[in-house]
Amino acid sequence: MTTTSPASEIAFDVLVSDHPRPAADRAEILAAPKFGSVFTDHMVTLRWSADRGWHDGRLEPYGPFTLDPGTSVFHYAQEIFEGLKAYRQHGGAIVAFRPQANAARFGSSARRMAMPQLPGDAFVRAIELLVSQDRAWVPDGEGHSLYLRPFMIATQTGLGINQPSQQYLFALIASPAAAYFSGGARPVSVWISPEYTRAAPGGTGEAKCGGNYGGAFAGQQQAIANGCDQVVWLDAVERRWIEEMGGMNLFFVSGSGSSASIMTPALTGTMLPGITRDSLLTLAPGLGIKAEEGRISVDEWRAGCASGEISEVFACGTAAVITPVGKVKSPAGEWLVGDGSPGPVTLRLREELLGLQYGDRPDPHGWIHKIC
Ligand SMILES: *Cc1c(COP(=O)(O)O)cnc(C)c1O
Repeated sequence: MTTTSPASEIAFDVLVSDHPRPAADRAEILAAPKFGSVFTDHMVTLRWSADRGWHDGRLEPYGPFTLDPGTSVFHYAQEIFEGLKAYRQHGGAIVAFRPQANAARFGSSARRMAMPQLPGDAFVRAIELLVSQDRAWVPDGEGHSLYLRPFMIATQTGLGINQPSQQYLFALIASPAAAYFSGGARPVSVWISPEYTRAAPGGTGEAKCGGNYGGAFAGQQQAIANGCDQVVWLDAVERRWIEEMGGMNLFFVSGSGSSASIMTPALTGTMLPGITRDSLLTLAPGLGIKAEEGRISVDEWRAGCASGEISEVFACGTAAVITPVGKVKSPAGEWLVGDGSPGPVTLRLREELLGLQYGDRPDPHGWIHKIC
């Protein structure tokens, strides 16, 4: 069977697995999914070459790739990815959240990494195909979802670096997920890295590329060695301004009740433009919470917590939704945010966003994309 997506004319052949995981095994996995550890029965693949463009689109059984050891991605890390989720809503529908926004960001990441543009409708069509085929894998537990991981790698064989790879593989895989950090809204402690930075002006910080993560693990290891859960990155120029926490954007809350406001560092080109971040900036005003982009230094963070001006801090991203930050540690000292427990603005925004994603709240912005 071949399905053609009318706008981009990219076709996907459908090859259904003849050895899907037995239903009883799947049920056991879905009862307690572990983030990104087990994958569903199928995957989508699509190839690109300079002479043929996009071709060989396929929904096929999940399985390993065979690649020549001289394949470009192994040496020069031309790789980009996305992360989004499919939700089993309480009304029964299976939906994705803002997949076109992920498609657009995949396009900007590809541009920065000198990779080909995948038309947005083909990106979304790949998601629809995989999620519909593997819909039995979308868990129905509280806060559970099917995590979707689209990615693209450079597949040309050869070590030359005069031009980017002339061949690429796009793939989409999926993995059932529970809450990313165990314990739901348990506050995390953060280590402000004095030594490493994540991204510099002109670099790849705003592209969702694997290399950004490869360079970040050493900072994350130091956070753990310092007794913290997560690393917080400072800007690379002044080593003063707060950028992100691990793979999540940060928000700072001031005031409370009807005077509450939230602020997130403005996108300077070194931060990843999170879709959760954008969604919260859009949602908050409708809930009576003022929202703005700005900037905050380490000293201001510390002083704001001491004076009580900063009442809450949280991180946000697709995988972990909204995670409160309870404690901050840097070589200059350590302090609590509020009393270290999750604050009301953090919990309210988390509930509103999850409510929208699981179909318990209206969707005024048209963010919910029904799949099946
Ligand atoms: C993916 C990512 C985020 C969060 O983006 P969402 O679209 O909200 O999931 C934040 N920071 C980094 C570094 C990321 O890679």
